[in-house]
Amino acid sequence: MADTFRRDALHGKTLGDGCVTESPRRVPVRSDVDVLVCGGGPAGVTAALAAARQGARTLLVERYGMLGGVWTAGLMNPFFECMDRGWIVQELVDRLRAAGALRNWYYSHTFDTEVMKLLLEEMATAAGVTLLYHTLVVDAIVEDSRLRGVVLESKAGREAVTAKVVVDATGDGDVAARAGCRYEFGRPSDGLLQPMTLMFEIRGLGDWEMNDARVLYDAMTEAMAREKIPYEMPFSRSKAVPWIISAPPRGTGDVQLTHVYRMNTLDPTDLTRGTIEARRQAHQAMAVLKRVPGLEGIELVQTAPQIGVREGRRVRGRHWLTVADLKAGRRFDDAVTSCGFVVDIHDVEGRAEGAQKPLIRIQPYEIPYRCLVAEDVRGLLLAGRCISGSHEAHASYRVTGTCAAMGQAAGLAAAWTAADNGADVAELPGERLRAFLADHGARFLDDGMTMSVPEKE
Ligand SMILES: Cc1cc2nc3c(=O)[nH]c(=O)nc-3n(C[C@H](O)[C@H](O)[C@H](O)COP(=O)(O)OP(=O)(O)OC[C@H]3O[C@@H](n4cnc5c(N)ncnc54)[C@H](O)[C@@H]3O)c2cc1C
Repeated sequence: MADTFRRDALHGKTLGDGCVTESPRRVPVRSDVDVLVCGGGPAGVTAALAAARQGARTLLVERYGMLGGVWTAGLMNPFFECMDRGWIVQELVDRLRAAGALRNWYYSHTFDTEVMKLLLEEMATAAGVTLLYHTLVVDAIVEDSRLRGVVLESKAGREAVTAKVVVDATGDGDVAARAGCRYEFGRPSDGLLQPMTLMFEIRGLGDWEMNDARVLYDAMTEAMAREKIPYEMPFSRSKAVPWIISAPPRGTGDVQLTHVYRMNTLDPTDLTRGTIEARRQAHQAMAVLKRVPGLEGIELVQTAPQIGVREGRRVRGRHWLTVADLKAGRRFDDAVTSCGFVVDIHDVEGRAEGAQKPLIRIQPYEIPYRCLVAEDVRGLLLAGRCISGSHEAHASYRVTGTCAAMGQAAGLAAAWTAADNGADVAELPGERLRAFLADHGARFLDDGMTMSVPEKE
């Protein structure tokens, strides 16, 4: 009888002192590319599209079975700061609108999550991006202070990919950290991070529209008292958090109502605890929401596959963007995008009513290419919420339109550098990127880009 059984190679390990020592092993290189993009969220997907459209052999590695990151796996809406970004971001907005999957919502836009998933895949495929889903980036390959590629883990085991340029768009700066780059994590004074939020999707809204978070907060408080529902709001009234965000298709809403505090967003134990606690909050909140006049017909469709992480590592780049830059409305010759979003710090301590910190007033500002260039290792670009900036500045630039705009700039820079064999991303003049992006519809401050979100009280 033929032997039909298979057996994988064993990797030597010894156990001792509460640690496992792994023997050296040979890891196969599954591919060599020009540009490797790690993470397929708003920043990663636009980076990969930009690089591939410039002719770079581009691979995007993503841990989930979809593109979009917090847009899709996180059920997050709205698409803040998506206008005036030009090029790929504008094309995405136009395609969503053409598909009937975008609607105006207050001062922003909301989108249909399922259409977003499909469109991103269609755009990636058309551009020639190679997608690799269900794969985690676990390590970095650094030689002589130059990042040469990464190590992956998947059902296929451990494999490597080498690349001329790597874009870290993991949100949390996983690649940069593994490559030995310096980073900040949390509020510098005590390391506390903004709370995580598990978004959830509801249907049955009909024509009901949210007008003000405090009005919804009061209606929920009243319903809890009237119906004697034992529920505690996970934030204060002054934070103005409870949001039911109407999104296409009609009658659907993405709800931002859960908050879990004092969690380490890089620790799987805290991510697990936080997810379980936030899901409990979501179901309890539904019981209250259904008692709010006008919302009696709503139903829970799903909680998000991924809890929303507001804050991870902020990696040291060639410019550290601070709140002083934001207050000054600073412009940069090598700007890759502008940003006008408020400094939206969700209370890191979960403090009680009245303890809200005063709003930090800023002006529209620009983000320089240097914030995307890792300082401690060559061959690495940062895009999205892990770029180089302070705890406060990050609370403004982390919105998805800005992250997507950084992504398209990072992909462009990666492709141009890869085409210039032997060059490093740090040598690329950021002014060239700015000029290209402006030619492709991106608006910078001198072109009249303004604050896109009204200041909160
Ligand atoms: C609850 C919440 C509400 C928000 N509300 C808004 C809002 O209303 N509007 C707005 O515009 N922004 C909002 N934001 C901010 C915004 O969603 C994020 O800052 C933004 O998504 C960051 O984009 P990114 O591409 O850097 O990261 P992410 O969206 O986090 O994408 C990172 C991607 O990388 C993948 N990945 C991570 N690590 C690895 C790895 N090691 N290997 C392989 N893949 C990996 C992830 O699966 C993910 O797809 C909100 C954020 C949260 C958490």
